[in-house]
Amino acid sequence: MISGIAAAALVCAAVSVSTTAQRAIPVKALVGGTLIDGFGGTPIRNSVVLIEGERIKAVGQVGTLQVPVGAEVISTEGMSVLPGLWDMHVHLMINGHSDYAHWDKTYPTLFEPVIMPASAKQLLLAGVTSARDLGAPLEASISVRDRINAGKIVGSTVYVSGPFIQHAPYPGTELFRWGVSGVEDARARIRKLADAGVDVIKLIDQDQMTMDEVRAVVDEAHTRGLPVVAHSHRPEEIRRGLAAGVDNFEHTGLSSAPEYPDDIIQAIRERTANMARGPLFWTPTIEGLLNYEYLRDNTEELDNTSWHEGLPPEIIADIRQSIAHPDRLPYFQLTPARRPTLARKFQQLRDAGVVMLIGTDSGIPMKFHSQSTWHELDAWVNILGVDPMTAIRAATYWPSLAMKVADDVGTVTPGKYADIIAVKGDVLRHIALLQRVDVVVKHGTRYR
Ligand SMILES: [Zn+2]
Repeated sequence: MISGIAAAALVCAAVSVSTTAQRAIPVKALVGGTLIDGFGGTPIRNSVVLIEGERIKAVGQVGTLQVPVGAEVISTEGMSVLPGLWDMHVHLMINGHSDYAHWDKTYPTLFEPVIMPASAKQLLLAGVTSARDLGAPLEASISVRDRINAGKIVGSTVYVSGPFIQHAPYPGTELFRWGVSGVEDARARIRKLADAGVDVIKLIDQDQMTMDEVRAVVDEAHTRGLPVVAHSHRPEEIRRGLAAGVDNFEHTGLSSAPEYPDDIIQAIRERTANMARGPLFWTPTIEGLLNYEYLRDNTEELDNTSWHEGLPPEIIADIRQSIAHPDRLPYFQLTPARRPTLARKFQQLRDAGVVMLIGTDSGIPMKFHSQSTWHELDAWVNILGVDPMTAIRAATYWPSLAMKVADDVGTVTPGKYADIIAVKGDVLRHIALLQRVDVVVKHGTRYR
């Protein structure tokens, strides 16, 4: 019950807020669609999402939540409405070219002004409002992230690692791979990255480092509040990463071996049994492997021009010629042998209690930022049998938690940034609809 006076006060407050909103802060209303809010519960039919400025103001239903006078109404009738997607493993500095040695020596001066911004824009237009970039030159990474956040260029919100941290950079990759030599050097390099403002530390080849170096990297990162993401391609990378306290592993590793060995699964279970340490996250980046043979034999998708966005014609032509013969690419030599092992490994990880995240390695040969993320969701659901709600939460709710920004993004909740997408049809029935999103809103601004 509310008293008459209190009710009158509420009305006055409501009137004054909406008047202010009309004058100063733009208000948008997404009206009519079925809202999957990211928490996993029953979707809200005939939903209304009110956005004031950059943030979500209110969430409700047609008939009970009023749309303020003067609001810009965006009809989502017939659509699924959901949090903007995350891709937890992208490479903004590459765009699907098959020859890394050529790319790394030809285009570094274009990473910061052209290539990374183009990748971030392609991701955003694909409905990926947040992306984690794992391995690129430090200054370029920070600059691109900050220019996007400042509204100077259009792109998904990016969380960056800057350079890979590893035993030694491969020849010609020193710009974006930092070797560590000894414990003090390891700590100093992490401090340098933290001081520069990276969001996460990317560790690779930790099986070639000393265990003390691996621990120093992880300890120093955690001291600075940064999560550590590590490759898990080889068994010893996983063992060392687990021993050192890595927060998130990347890739479904172990090449064409049929499964993870028992001691690794046991070690993962020890880790996931410890609730105080939070979830152990794993980004399997699996679709490129599952779909390679299909793509090799059905190349029409490579001609989709969505990945040209923001790239000059010379670079597009260079990429196109490099992937003219998908069957000949050395990068994928072992993929047909790996594919049959993937479902087993994926299931082992899930059974061991890890929290799986959507990520794609977008940017690797033939994997374009405009197309990768929905493919990963589709592979989980339609090849690996993950239920669609779990897959969507692995691309929304859980990534925001893994990156410690769950107060601001990851679900459609009042107070959070308005990062919201909508697509015609029921994504819980047909997840592949996400390949053509109809509405993309990031921080309250509509981009599609
Ligand atoms: Zn990667």
